[in-house]
Amino acid sequence: AEKLLTIENLKMHFPVYRGALVRREVNRVRAVDGLNFDIYEGETLGLVGESGCGKSTTGRSIIQLYRPTDGKVVFDGKNLCELPEAELHPLRRDLQMIFQDPYGSLNPRMTVGDIIAEPLKVHKLASGKAARERVQELMEIVGLDPRFIRRYPHEFSGGQRQRIGIARALACEPRFIVCDEPISALDVSIQAQIMNLMEDLQKEFNLTYLFIAHDLAAVRHISDRIAVMYLGKMAELADGREIYDNPLHPYTEALISAVPIPDPEVEKTRQRIVLQGDVPSPLNPPSGCVFHTRCPYAWERCAMEVPRFEQAEPGHYVACHLIDEPMRRERVKGAMTR
Ligand code: SF4
Ligand code: MG
Repeated sequence: AEKLLTIENLKMHFPVYRGALVRREVNRVRAVDGLNFDIYEGETLGLVGESGCGKSTTGRSIIQLYRPTDGKVVFDGKNLCELPEAELHPLRRDLQMIFQDPYGSLNPRMTVGDIIAEPLKVHKLASGKAARERVQELMEIVGLDPRFIRRYPHEFSGGQRQRIGIARALACEPRFIVCDEPISALDVSIQAQIMNLMEDLQKEFNLTYLFIAHDLAAVRHISDRIAVMYLGKMAELADGREIYDNPLHPYTEALISAVPIPDPEVEKTRQRIVLQGDVPSPLNPPSGCVFHTRCPYAWERCAMEVPRFEQAEPGHYVACHLIDEPMRRERVKGAMTR
């Protein structure tokens, strides 16, 4: 597959100010701190990590909902980060977002028809009768009754509201959609319906998804590749299967060991990796490897040197010094079981 987006050294730092009269920057929240990866046309890239690790900020920075502090996002041969808004505007059609909260992300004072038609108007694609027909077509595509076009968001269930959000994202025929935990606020009974809808839409319209979730189990089935983030950095990225069968980053290993296995026999003999402590603040991230304060394998080098995000095996990227010390992992693991 072709590369759709290339992300280089992407940073999104939020300044923290102090002072009433003279505002001065006293610190920065390093929400996203130097990401390098590609997104391929037609794939679903799952992006996983604990809340506050920067995954939503990453999605928003890629589609320029936030303008990144540093780095590049290359799309259609252009670096989106350096384009002025006027030049970015036509490209925004291609880059859409489905939000986590189907309640908060829809304007309660607008009818469903106006909500879904809004991007058509913003991009001057349709108005009047043509816009209304397109909205009704979109409602059918996402499984909503087009006769409800004049209703308001509160007249719909959570699952139906998420369908409205999906219709709005599809309105301009985008190529890339950031899906920010699109099902985590929904009832378990309707999560599968929305997932199936999103998979069908992907095939039908050749969409590329960045699918954000807080745990690995949630992206397992939908993702072609999975990326794991920790404290604003990429820990690991590989094919979905590869991540499960051969996790190289200790953080990924810990996340996988937390996913329950249905077979009680396997579950009994499994070695769980329980992380110590809490996630440190992105205001003051640890030196060296940001994971070293919680990593069961950490040694002196980890606190001093930032591990590079490198290809360890074909298509399998990891940021961890263990790739230079393969024996260490087994040694520490052996000591854990004893
Ligand atoms: Fe653990 Fe060191 Fe690897 Fe970081 S670099 S994940 S601290 S072993
Ligand atoms: Mg989030």
